[in-house]
Amino acid sequence: MSFVVTILGSNSASPAHNRNPTSQLLRIGQEHLLIDCGEGTQMRLLALRQRASRIRYIFISHLHGDHYLGLVGLLSSLHLNGRAEDMYLYGPPGLEEIITTQFRYSHTTLCYRLHYHEVGPVPEVILETEHFSVQTLPLSHRILCMGFLFREKTGKRRIGKEMLPPSLSVHQLKRLKEGKDLFDQSGSLLYRNEQLTLPPRQPRSYAYCSDTRYHEELVEYIRGVDLLYHESTFLDDQRERAAETYHSTARQAASIAQMAGVHKLVLGHYSSRYRDLTPFLTEAKEIFPDTILSIEGEDIVVE
Ligand SMILES: [Zn+2]
Ligand SMILES: [Zn+2]
Repeated sequence: MSFVVTILGSNSASPAHNRNPTSQLLRIGQEHLLIDCGEGTQMRLLALRQRASRIRYIFISHLHGDHYLGLVGLLSSLHLNGRAEDMYLYGPPGLEEIITTQFRYSHTTLCYRLHYHEVGPVPEVILETEHFSVQTLPLSHRILCMGFLFREKTGKRRIGKEMLPPSLSVHQLKRLKEGKDLFDQSGSLLYRNEQLTLPPRQPRSYAYCSDTRYHEELVEYIRGVDLLYHESTFLDDQRERAAETYHSTARQAASIAQMAGVHKLVLGHYSSRYRDLTPFLTEAKEIFPDTILSIEGEDIVVE
């Protein structure tokens, strides 16, 4: 099953240096999820040939404009394009009122059902599907702001092609995929499922930590995740400014990654004062070597 993060926007506050406000597309198998929706997100999707119509779940971390001002435009375009499928929206209190107000004044009645799920300050599981779950994460920002932890569920045992005897029928292969044993016509056991299959893949996880100041309480919630996105608005020489504005530095993001023992860290939400992002990578790697930059248009495979 695929588990891929596509960076749609990586800048903080306002667009600059060809970078856009925050948004990410997460694909888990067949499901498309949108995380934050800064202004211009629908154009970013178009430019990257990602179909917005495939998105079923949208997660908004907080109500600063650089994280949701693209939402009404996106929802409106989906309506104009005749979407029929339900949409599920997770966000802080006030989001439903904002959207409802905008559509009320434009006399728009959406042609699809939009389900609101209010996300509060206490970390909790907010979504369970057959293949993954989503839990909120506590952050510390100027207004209520939550992160999201996407965790794959343990899958089924996998077919080990090199373990298969020749001439298995399609029916027998189907039984194996369903975790069943194989029997011959008289009902005698031919193969136990474990003889011909591999154990399920280790479930993967992605923690999205949106705007936050340095916040050690986060560590216990994200321990050992495969990929951590942690904002890094500033470099460490601006750590006082970071604290004042409830943001983090690249060094602080790396410290959180190190304490939590994550596998990989991805930085983002860069301040417009920086054109060149190389110093972010250098600074973070001193503390946590397995760090990458979020670069718009790039896919990051969670593994
Ligand atoms: Zn922001
Ligand atoms: Zn913010």
